[in-house]
Amino acid sequence: MYIATAVMLAALVAAQSASAKTASEWKRNDPDRPIPHQVEDARPITIPPPSDAIILFDGADLSAFRLDPQYGWTVSDGNLIAGGQIRNYLETRQHFGNLQIHLEFMTPYPPLGEGQKRGNSGVFLLGAYEIQIMDPAENPTFADGLPGSIYGQTPPSVLAARKPGEWQSYDIVFHAPDFDGDELVSPPTVTVLHNGVLVQDHTIVRGDTIPRVQPPEYRTRIERGPLVLQDHGDAGGRVRFRNFWVRPLDGPAADDG
Ligand code: MG
Repeated sequence: MYIATAVMLAALVAAQSASAKTASEWKRNDPDRPIPHQVEDARPITIPPPSDAIILFDGADLSAFRLDPQYGWTVSDGNLIAGGQIRNYLETRQHFGNLQIHLEFMTPYPPLGEGQKRGNSGVFLLGAYEIQIMDPAENPTFADGLPGSIYGQTPPSVLAARKPGEWQSYDIVFHAPDFDGDELVSPPTVTVLHNGVLVQDHTIVRGDTIPRVQPPEYRTRIERGPLVLQDHGDAGGRVRFRNFWVRPLDGPAADDG
């Protein structure tokens, strides 16, 4: 009896200390980090672009992107389709700072592959900070690699993913960092709605998401940059995209030439 109570108390203390950790105290890709609960939602996810939006992809034209045919990004049936190669990125020609983003995507069906190698993609803000895309349906992975996470840093507050083969959306409000020389004056922040459900609420992005460093560091010290889509080259198929538009929140977008 005493032992059972002690075990229960130890478990309770462990659970409390786990939940009391702040985002920056968790290790990158920590398997012990709590998994957010799944939210079921069936609302329509398509939002037509407002009149002042910059259309990045409307079903046919890829002129908004730097496109190199060897990397295999294509258009089919009105969808933009990832090239099927690992470390293969599609980058906008225009550079942006503070930004509202709408992007629709679909992970492959039937689902194949395990963990992070299933339906993996992502949208990189300033080409540096990834909002993760992957297929988590009956496919366990670490919390800060779930869809809606700031990859390797902050899990989504809830899991709002739909099934593979269904269209989904991200609506993102991004505020770019402010640097004074090498010094960070204000960090980047991001708000993300996944299928209309809030999953990141003005969350601070604590550094670049690609370098495998802990704690994260701001290595890409820019205030304006491209939006970048990730092709992860997963064997189970290619992620599709449609209806991709943005609204710059700080004046016209700059073309980096
Ligand atoms: Mg990814």
